[in-house]
Amino acid sequence: MEIKVDEKTCTGCSLCKNVCMYDAIEITGKLARINDNCIFCGACIDACKFKSIEITGIPEQDFDFSGYEGVMVFIEQHQGSVAEVSYELLSEGRKLADTLGTKLYGILPGYDLKERIADIFCYGIDRLYIAENEIFKNNIDDIYSKILVQAINRYRPDIFLGGATSFGRTLLPKVAAIIKTGLTADCTELSIDPDKKILLQTRPTFGGNILATIITRNARPQMATVRPHVMAKAAINQPDNNRTDNYLKYAGKIEFLKFDPLNFKTKYKLLSQEKESGQSINLTDYDVIVSGGRGIGGPDNFALIKELADVLGGVVGASRAAVDSNWISYPHQVGQTGKTVNPKVYIACGISGAIQHLAGMQTSDIVIAINKDPYAPIFKIANYGLVGDLFEIIPRLIKKIKSGKSSI
Ligand SMILES: Cc1cc2nc3c(=O)[nH]c(=O)nc-3n(C[C@H](O)[C@H](O)[C@H](O)COP(=O)(O)OP(=O)(O)OC[C@H]3O[C@@H](n4cnc5c(N)ncnc54)[C@H](O)[C@@H]3O)c2cc1C
Ligand code: SF4
Ligand code: SF4
Repeated sequence: MEIKVDEKTCTGCSLCKNVCMYDAIEITGKLARINDNCIFCGACIDACKFKSIEITGIPEQDFDFSGYEGVMVFIEQHQGSVAEVSYELLSEGRKLADTLGTKLYGILPGYDLKERIADIFCYGIDRLYIAENEIFKNNIDDIYSKILVQAINRYRPDIFLGGATSFGRTLLPKVAAIIKTGLTADCTELSIDPDKKILLQTRPTFGGNILATIITRNARPQMATVRPHVMAKAAINQPDNNRTDNYLKYAGKIEFLKFDPLNFKTKYKLLSQEKESGQSINLTDYDVIVSGGRGIGGPDNFALIKELADVLGGVVGASRAAVDSNWISYPHQVGQTGKTVNPKVYIACGISGAIQHLAGMQTSDIVIAINKDPYAPIFKIANYGLVGDLFEIIPRLIKKIKSGKSSI
């Protein structure tokens, strides 16, 4: 491949230099010159108004994806309990499949699953592939990747989705690498390009400052992991939970995968499973979240945050600064690398409002910020702002709420 600048039309305007993230363009004598740092990403070609840059020698490949069909969702379960994000993805997958006029499939590896199956059929799935065996009892990605690769090679879905949970984030890149396709991790939006009928995979990048839309041009399936709680769960019908054998109703839409468990060897050995303390806290279950940041000054002061959360029937959240300082455990973290939450009320105490924190809470119905710095960025998105020392404001708030003179 070669990249060339047309000396006759280049004006030296620098637009190309400004978009090149690889320091590959220098402007000398009103002419753009491209150096060896170039990775042929093509960004400068789109930026040049004068059509002065050209990449030549791109190998011509005729990709035939006609054998790929349908949207397949990896249904993640832990000890038989299906992860919420899988229902969210089935709901989104149904929409994508309808837009493409194709089918929605699910692939569910696990052990002792039957009681969960009827729930899965509430989300408009056309066919469910089940791989049931004791080897899937513990979520070992090495073993799961093998069954997913087999299912993808056998059924050739056009689109393959999984949750951006810690398991999904480990498993799906492994699968994508084995079958040699692309993967967009941690998406917040999926849609179909109306002309090309391909999957548009949107995710935040550069610390959440930009949303990038990524396509998988030269490989199939188009794979993406999607953040929990960003897509709505939309059940089409309700399960009949009174019967444990209600899955039999869907027998015609279920296929149990045949495989030899002896081929599913792993180099990993599970020694023990320990529940992280605080792991059971699920911030998304609460209507009120009271979060503490670096401004609370130390781990002991989370007692004050908890007291406010308790009087409001809420739960304690935290910024990453507080979690990184070991003041509180990770399951409490809100933000880009923590939980995405959208409670009715979010109270940020001593939190500056960095973009990565906002990424996890700015869709809350009401945001209340308590901060002594009137210019803290959190006030830009807060519905109510209390400027002052949180150690004065919070005890007064608690007192008023307890006395019934104030409520949220
Ligand atoms: C890739 C990446 C991912 C990240 N992911 C996350 C994430 O998921 N979640 C997250 O939160 N951050 C995340 N961060 C970190 C983020 O950039 C900020 O550093 C972090 O959110 C700051 O936390 P903070 O607001 O608690 O602390 P600070 O920014 O230090 O703010 C403390 C605030 O407390 C106020 N304050 C101090 N004392 C008082 C007082 N007595 N009364 C009232 N107010 C007071 C100060 O005015 C200040 O505004 C990430 C960063 C990166 C690079
Ligand atoms: S954007 Fe185009 S015209 Fe401007 S310097 Fe680059 S190559 Fe030349
Ligand atoms: S193709 Fe990409 S890396 Fe190469 S010069 Fe243009 S913008 Fe820079």
